[in-house]
Order: sequence, then structure tokens, then C-alpha cells
Amino acid sequence: MAYKKIVMELDKKIALVAHDHKKRDLVEWAKFNRDLLAHHKVFATGTTGLLLEKELKFPITKLQSGPLGGDQQIGAKIVDGDIDFLIFFWDPLEPQPHDPDVKALLRMAVVWNIPIACDRASADFMISSPLMDLPYSRIVPDYDVYRSRAIPPGDPASASTADKKK
Ligand code: PGA
Repeated sequence: MAYKKIVMELDKKIALVAHDHKKRDLVEWAKFNRDLLAHHKVFATGTTGLLLEKELKFPITKLQSGPLGGDQQIGAKIVDGDIDFLIFFWDPLEPQPHDPDVKALLRMAVVWNIPIACDRASADFMISSPLMDLPYSRIVPDYDVYRSRAIPPGDPASASTADKKK
């Protein structure tokens, strides 16, 4: 398969998201790693962002609250290349009203091969990686191949009644 490279600059664009029962965990983690985070550009869903800004005392780009579309906004930013690193403490023990959005966000992160940490241990390993302080080229499949794929011809049997009358 052909691949392309997307460069992540020295200062990364990091998205932080936590479900309600995981917010305390994320805030503690972010406070502990405040100095490491401070020189990156940090984004967050609405409520997570408010809590983090209060504790970290540096500006955070706050999007909508997750259930109101914030997860989808982060997903769209990943697609546009405006976020290249996701720390998402989702709650494995609570159903979420926006579960499809959560799944979509995690899917976009994998489609675009951005690093994701969904728990504190993974976040610790990621933030302490020497790659955090270097530009990094992540490889993604060359989606031009997908874009130019052959579309199967339509099935005449599935044409709508209106079409058949024409
Ligand atoms: P919140 O959203 O930070 O606005 O609570 C998080 C989420 O549930 O995705």
C-alpha cells in the first residue's frame, strides 16, 4: 500500500477530553505534566477545558461540550490536520448519550494515525516520549487510492419506483 507523510511540528496540537467520572484523573495528570504541556497548543471539549484552564493557568482552546458536538469538532480538526495528538479518558463503566460521537472520534484518530491515550498509563508513556520534543512525520495510507476507487455499477432492481416510471 502507498503511504503519505504528515509532519507533526515540534509544538504539538494536543486535544484533551475526559468523561465526567474521569475528569478528576485528567486534571491530576495534566497538573503533574503542566510544564510539558505548556509549550504545546492545547484544545479541549468545553467542560474539560474549563476545568483544565482553571488548574493549569494557561489558555486552552475550548470547543463545545462533548455531548453537544465537541467530540465531533475534535474529530473534524483531526481530519483537517489541526489536531495531532489525542488524550481521551473515556469512561468504560458509564453509558454516554453521545456514544456514537465517541466512537467516531476514536475512529478518526486511527484513520489519520494520530497518537491516542485513553488512560493515564498510556498518557504517561506518550508525554514522556522523546518524540514529543521533535518534529515527527506520521505515515497515513495514501487515501487518493481510496478516493479514486471504482464504484460498483447501480443495480437496476434497486431503482426507486419514481425512476422506473420515467
Ligand atoms: P466535556 O465533554 O468536556 O464538555 O464534558 C467531554 C465528553 O463527554 O466528550
